[in-house]
Amino acid sequence: MKKNYLLTPGPTPLPPQVCEAMARPIIHHRTPQFQAVLKEVTEGLKLVFQTKNDVFILASSGTGAMEAAVVNLLSPGDSALAIQGGKFGERWTEICQAYGITAEVMDVEWGEAADPSQIEKKLKANPKIKAVFTTLCETSTGVTNDIEAIGKAVKETAAVLVVDAISGLGAIPLSTDAWSCDIVVSGSQKGLMLPPGLGFISVSPKAWKLIESAKSPKYYFDLEAAKKALEKTDTPFTPAINLVVALSEALNMMKADSLENIFLRHKKMAEATRQAMKALGLELFAPTCASDAVTAVKVPAGIDGEKLVKTMRDTYDVTIAGGQAELKGKVFRIAHMGYIEKTDIIAGISCLEKVLQQMGYKFNLGAGVKAAQEVFND
Ligand SMILES: *Cc1c(COP(=O)(O)O)cnc(C)c1O
Repeated sequence: MKKNYLLTPGPTPLPPQVCEAMARPIIHHRTPQFQAVLKEVTEGLKLVFQTKNDVFILASSGTGAMEAAVVNLLSPGDSALAIQGGKFGERWTEICQAYGITAEVMDVEWGEAADPSQIEKKLKANPKIKAVFTTLCETSTGVTNDIEAIGKAVKETAAVLVVDAISGLGAIPLSTDAWSCDIVVSGSQKGLMLPPGLGFISVSPKAWKLIESAKSPKYYFDLEAAKKALEKTDTPFTPAINLVVALSEALNMMKADSLENIFLRHKKMAEATRQAMKALGLELFAPTCASDAVTAVKVPAGIDGEKLVKTMRDTYDVTIAGGQAELKGKVFRIAHMGYIEKTDIIAGISCLEKVLQQMGYKFNLGAGVKAAQEVFND
């Protein structure tokens, strides 16, 4: 018998309510029935984004919402600042480049958080910068950036702040309005407990001003068209109907739970995971700014990191993530976001211990599980 544990930072496991909603007979989208759902989920998303701004649902993965932010805000030849401390920060630069936008890159050491005062300096030095592209949780390194402080720095300037919260939203705190985030993008398959296929994007009044004059080519991701449609509780194109219906189930679960409880649970699971890794003698990749959504851990010397992840998955049905790009084979990542619970974390750590032991790594068997249990028992 096989039982799979999915502990990856996207996709994340699906709650039964979400699976059930995905399996329902499809309804037509130009109907009062679907309009009621669209209205409800748009309001629900605003709660999760903690915003009064417009929030749109796109039929794309999270990257589509990133691309929507770039092409709607900027014109070819415009300057933007991209904060790059991992694979997903790099994506902002790549999207800008694809559209002929000059991305000034602020390189942040992988495993560290961006320094808000550096961003302030960059903006002062180059007043032409129209947008600052950042990442809430840099999933590739397990770092959470201080978006609140970055928001304070950007707010006083003419530039807009754009935040990739694809893996952070619904897992760790993000107050879109209170932190002056002009555009926040997210995706369905991480903290929001859905299959992949939906992108989300919130737009502030300051961002709309820029959008009005932006001239990058766009069609599918035209946010002004999305706005016009949503004013009539509609979408410009066929929405991903069953995903939107499933989103209403996920949002209901989140409302019943409350954001406060959700953030607390993630914090606790992250702490348990970090303590477990330390108890196993393993080193965290981002010890000073560790994310509560995903933990990146250095692969110990003498252990094949890719084989570790593969054995856990293929022999024991526990899927964690390896390292991306330059971190391939050097780190592994355990997600604790969305529909992942304490017992899943215990199962994951227990499996990690089993495989580490088989691979000849020396430690006290059970030490990681014990450390995690102690955090959960607090
Ligand atoms: C997963 C992720 C993405 C990519 O999202 P897709 O849904 O795969 O397009 C971008 N940024 C961050 C921070 C992510 O975690």
